[in-house]
Amino acid sequence: MKQDSVVLETTSLADIFRLTPLQKTGLAKLGITTSDDLLHYFPIRYTSTADIKHIINLSKGDDTTIYGRVVSAKTSKGFKTKIPMTEAVIEDSTGRIKAVWFHQAYIAKMLTPEKLVKLSGHIEDRRGELYIANPELVRTNELPIDASDSLFQTENESVLYPIYAETRGVTSRFIYHHIQKLFSKGILEKITDPIPEEILTKYHLPTLSTALVWLHAPQKEGDAESARKRFAFEEVFVIQLARQRERAQAKEHSGFKIIPDEKALARFTSRFPFKPTASQDHALADIFSDFKKGIPMGRLLEGDVGSGKTFVAATAAYAVTAATPADNKFGNLQVAYMAPTEILAEQHFQSFIQYFKDLPIEIGLLTGSGAKKFPSKSNPTEATKVSKAQLLKWVAEGKLPILIGTHALIQKSVEFKNLGLAIVDEQHRFGTAQRGKLAKKDEMLPHFLSMTATPIPRTLALTIYGNLDLTLLDEMPAGRLPIKTEIITKSNRKKMEEEMRAEINRGHQAYVICPRIDEPDPEKELALQAKSVTAEAKRIAEDIFPEFEVGILHGKMKPAEKEWVMDEFKKGAIHILVATSVIEVGVNVPNATMIAIEGAERFGLAQLHQLRGRVIRSNDQAYCYILTDSTSEVSQKRLKAIATAKNGFELAELDLSLRGSGELSGGKQWGISDLGMEAIKNIKMVEAARTEAGIIIANDPELSKHPLLRTKITTHHKETHWE
Ligand code: ADP
Ligand code: MG
Repeated sequence: MKQDSVVLETTSLADIFRLTPLQKTGLAKLGITTSDDLLHYFPIRYTSTADIKHIINLSKGDDTTIYGRVVSAKTSKGFKTKIPMTEAVIEDSTGRIKAVWFHQAYIAKMLTPEKLVKLSGHIEDRRGELYIANPELVRTNELPIDASDSLFQTENESVLYPIYAETRGVTSRFIYHHIQKLFSKGILEKITDPIPEEILTKYHLPTLSTALVWLHAPQKEGDAESARKRFAFEEVFVIQLARQRERAQAKEHSGFKIIPDEKALARFTSRFPFKPTASQDHALADIFSDFKKGIPMGRLLEGDVGSGKTFVAATAAYAVTAATPADNKFGNLQVAYMAPTEILAEQHFQSFIQYFKDLPIEIGLLTGSGAKKFPSKSNPTEATKVSKAQLLKWVAEGKLPILIGTHALIQKSVEFKNLGLAIVDEQHRFGTAQRGKLAKKDEMLPHFLSMTATPIPRTLALTIYGNLDLTLLDEMPAGRLPIKTEIITKSNRKKMEEEMRAEINRGHQAYVICPRIDEPDPEKELALQAKSVTAEAKRIAEDIFPEFEVGILHGKMKPAEKEWVMDEFKKGAIHILVATSVIEVGVNVPNATMIAIEGAERFGLAQLHQLRGRVIRSNDQAYCYILTDSTSEVSQKRLKAIATAKNGFELAELDLSLRGSGELSGGKQWGISDLGMEAIKNIKMVEAARTEAGIIIANDPELSKHPLLRTKITTHHKETHWE
């Protein structure tokens, strides 16, 4: 491996080019500091000389290039925003158009009347007037298409130009030229491809340097596409390597050998008011067979909402706390159960109290807002608040067998004496590092059970869960009726309200969900959501259902308030709970049989399905109302899919196929870029990445023969794992 070759790639751009402070900040904002970052800054689109248009032919939404003469140019300020900008009027033989550069008042100085310019950009519309927004500007000496269209047909070859997303101080042109300069400095000859050559050849993928040329200086249609395919493969391949390496590393540790006592287990499961489904039994059999092996389990339990994952978690937890492993020198084992929100952690705590009451197994709760323990010394049927310090002391001494909580569980201050099993609910990105953090003794890694109801396509599951063995809970508890899902628009809204009234009068309860608001600042979004929830609750309570009790729940409320509202709802004192999607995961109130989701087109399909899952918790008929005013064809299609899909997994596949590549940002929550999500659409590519990653890890688990891949894994890990 040519180690020296890496140097130029990772050199800071400021050491190669002379950059102004404004350019430096701009680049940093785009995430570009090294030459490697610059090379991996992907164009957002391409223009070609074939896109050159006459002004008269322009229409809103075009990405286009025009040639014209400057008529006038001036600086101005946005009417409301006060943003400084340049406004110019450009004309060609067919007409005139306005060009606007926001934040770039200095451009006006470059545009003296009569100058000839080439502008490439997006055509927008403001109150019926077209303008070209922030176009790339090139001064030119001639107008190639002055008189007639036939001029361009003589140009037998069109040239493709990449267009990059810009920021203040850094234009698309700047990026283009600096990438071309890196190319001419010979960076491509010095670059080393992290992907082994055999793999590239086998799957007909371009090498890194070819892909970079195709990306930034494509010669023909399709070049950029092939380049993107390579980078998409690379991303999925790196994730697969990371996950499979985790898996290999976990297997090197010892795990507690636990042989569950069948009789005691049967006694425990008989405490539940139902008979487990065959799927639940099967899941427990998988888990217990792992427990017996003496190596740490790494298993994902994937089951649709309402399939009964908590029962499996509780029974596995019981088996661990009740067992004294044969080879265990330390005493009884402990269980940690981590949930994504305080509401859920509290709910699991309450469920576990029901399941474990009268058994000599104490349970703790640890969240950001406090600590609790069950049973209380003074009242053995109730939980009590305790100090965090006291709780942590019990945990460290091994006196508390089960600890339930939020992320608070993986803080440094939490030390288990003897952690045997870590259960993680709805945490897709919980890796070996976090697992290791839970364990005290390096040589023993706890068994690990990850649970999810998020229906995701198989390709995505293969990628992000590459480190885990999979068990499916593919059966609902007996007697569950299929949910009735209906799309509601203005015309049938009244009818829905009457149905809800009748159902509540029959003794049931309802959720009304208010939408996510697309707001770049999460804090602000929370505030806006809170506002819409409050307003909607007021409307419902005063105008629509004055006879019912209406409660609210949103992310801006204090934990104690949330807990109180959930309790009231559980007790049935609140009939209608108006909430944001905070109730999305896991909340379990079996008597709530209706959910109405406002502004449904703003939610992802998987999220809608999760929300709908809140009301399939008993054998009563459940209803889901999907409210929308959107008439867009895509959202109609997507919402129809949710009304017809039989289960979450079918829905996930539909969702993936219905999304355009511009909308794939949903990958963020899985730690996958929009580009990587393109690969996720392609099962062949995902399987290829998985197979090749498997072969490499089997032969070279430490990646010592592939140092570049090792670096990539570490960087990817850093970028995508929360801490
Ligand atoms: P999820 O898989 O979504 O976490 P839960 O564990 O919250 O589902 O279970 C949903 C509901 O179904 C709970 O009220 C639970 O008590 C009940 N339940 C679980 N398993 C069964 C079963 N085998 N038969 C009947 N009800 C069950
Ligand atoms: Mg659950």
